Amino acid sequence: MSNLLNILKIKQPLSNFDSGALIDVLLVDDREDNLYALEAVLSSPNYNLIKAQSGDQALRYLLDHRPAVILMDVQMPDLDGFETAGIIKRNERTRDIPIIFITAIDKDEHYVHKGYDYGAVDYLYKPYDPHILKSKVAVFAELAQKNRMLLEAERQLRLNEKKDRERQLAQLELKSMRREQTEQKKYLDLIEGIDQGVVWSADTNSLAISFVSKSAERILGYPIEQWSEERSFLLNHIHPDDRRQMNATIQQVVGEKRNLNLDHRMIKADGTEIWLHTGLRLASKGENAGHELRALSVDITKLKEAEELLRENKRRADFLSEASLILSQSLDSLITLSHIRQLIVPQIADNALVHVLNHEGIPHCVVESPDQAPNIDAKSSELVADVSEVVKKGVPVFHSKAIILPLSIRGKTFGALSCLIHESDREFNQDDLAFLEDLTSRVSTSLDNSNLYQEVQAAVRSRDEFFSVASHELKTPLTPLKLQIQILMRTLKNDSLKDLKPERIEQILKASDRQIGKLTSLIDNLMDISRISRGKMKLDLDHFDLMELIRDVLDRFASEIYNAKCEVKFDVPKDTPASLTVFLDQFRVEQIFVNLLTNAIKYGAGKPIHISVAVFQDSVKISFQDSGIGVAPEDKKRIFERFERGVSGLSFSGLGLGLYIVKQIVDAHGGKIELASELGTGSTFTVTLPIEAKNTES
Ligand code: ADP
Repeated sequence: MSNLLNILKIKQPLSNFDSGALIDVLLVDDREDNLYALEAVLSSPNYNLIKAQSGDQALRYLLDHRPAVILMDVQMPDLDGFETAGIIKRNERTRDIPIIFITAIDKDEHYVHKGYDYGAVDYLYKPYDPHILKSKVAVFAELAQKNRMLLEAERQLRLNEKKDRERQLAQLELKSMRREQTEQKKYLDLIEGIDQGVVWSADTNSLAISFVSKSAERILGYPIEQWSEERSFLLNHIHPDDRRQMNATIQQVVGEKRNLNLDHRMIKADGTEIWLHTGLRLASKGENAGHELRALSVDITKLKEAEELLRENKRRADFLSEASLILSQSLDSLITLSHIRQLIVPQIADNALVHVLNHEGIPHCVVESPDQAPNIDAKSSELVADVSEVVKKGVPVFHSKAIILPLSIRGKTFGALSCLIHESDREFNQDDLAFLEDLTSRVSTSLDNSNLYQEVQAAVRSRDEFFSVASHELKTPLTPLKLQIQILMRTLKNDSLKDLKPERIEQILKASDRQIGKLTSLIDNLMDISRISRGKMKLDLDHFDLMELIRDVLDRFASEIYNAKCEVKFDVPKDTPASLTVFLDQFRVEQIFVNLLTNAIKYGAGKPIHISVAVFQDSVKISFQDSGIGVAPEDKKRIFERFERGVSGLSFSGLGLGLYIVKQIVDAHGGKIELASELGTGSTFTVTLPIEAKNTES
């Protein structure tokens, strides 16, 4: 190593070159004086002269240097110049370095050739000409310099090319980053633009939310941070009934790598429900980053509500058409009502009751809960109160658990339908009310139809009955009349008229007159009816004594009273004057008295009859009280109608017109008629008439 210290570096600039870098020239000679001599000759600011005193030293230097030229002494101990050159030429890296041999001896051909064989480019002999040496070295130095410059130029070129490539790459990268950024922004804009939907992603195992779009807060109400911070946010807030299906779907998406959709409910922050349509897919998170679950949940609450409404409307339309069918099937109102009850329960309500007004105007339950329906008391005070109010006002009563609706026919409320919920948690809403109103209007129409049908049936029945009774009644006086006439004709034929005593003739004529009177009154009644039904009862008002009229009627019917074994008491209170002048239609008022008296005789035969008069300032009350068969409560109103009778034609004769005519006359006078009666105890018909009537048409 110490030999290496002999390698001296002389730094001198090379005037010919402007590169500034020194050219290395290796001088190899075992003799130091030779080395100094060479150094003296070659000394130049452009050269870096390296001196080596052996072939070995030269080779070491060459391990990591590349001089422009080597000046090599041939004669050296150990490794001589040729051997050293041989090693240099065999090495790939140093092979091209030019070598100039310098020797003092052996100028013969043999040496020269050997030198060239070892790769010498030139051969110099001592004593050498310094100029020639200098110029030879200068040639190689220049070559090396040019070579170096070329290399440098090439390096620069490569460097520039590399920089260019790098710049282009950087530009490309920048461009793609920008594009990526734009894409991401677009994507985010797109996501944020989804108004009715939430875009979210989650871990496939823990389902921890890794991303959620801002719309989530507006749609579900939870703060955005809660989605990712709360563990199992998704499963915590999904509707409990939909949790299993959501779990199963997620497992399918992850396990089978399939895109799947499902409709499910979530509970919003305010506790209400929302319907979402969620599309789920498995997506890569990037290179080697695994997969995640990505989803878009769209708010379909409105759609679900619309679907539900459609279903409900269809159900109701089906229900109403079924109801209409049932309503049209029977004309028996009770059967119809119980069928309707079967329709309502349990589809709409847990129970349904129907109340109908009885003859006293009190609601009476006609369709009740079946035995198996619990806790329903049709008589519960609350229900009865509601039903009474509905019937009175004709408007529905609406509670969350009960809807009570009026049943009306042509504006007249006759009952109520009560729909009740007592088993389920369900509560009635306004839609139920509207629907039940629709139903009850159909029920009412149907009941109206069945009532009309029943009225028509009854009218047909009473007409038939009237015809048979009327023909019987008309025939009854005709038979004795015919008999009387036949007696007289037979007597005439036998020419024995002179044998008949005048009393007997008078008797026959009186009997005939009575029968004609009966016929006349029957025909009068019938004519009255046709007149009244054409709205033509015109009063012929005049002053007359009412007391006297009553007494006249009693006189006229003395024989009927006698025959019926009735005792008539005409009772006038002490302070009542014996005569009472009224301004009424005398003929019609007489008709009232006759009809009421004949009825009292007919239905109270064998029992006393009590007639009383009470006079007030503007009116007078006349009562006909008997102790006969009485009138059943349900008939009390009906018997004042045309052809209506409370008895059969077999037990009592009559056309069912008397009370009807009485009522029409009383009404025409602006008065009223009342009946107090109990079956089997008797009846009191009380007529109230004004003392002075005004002429009106009935
Ligand atoms: P008619 O006597 O010809 O049947 P009315 O119109 O006079 O017709 O009477 C109608 C019905 O009223 C009778 O059929 C009878 O059932 C009942 N009625 C009338 N007056 C009395 C009475 N005083 N007592 C009991 N029932 C009566």
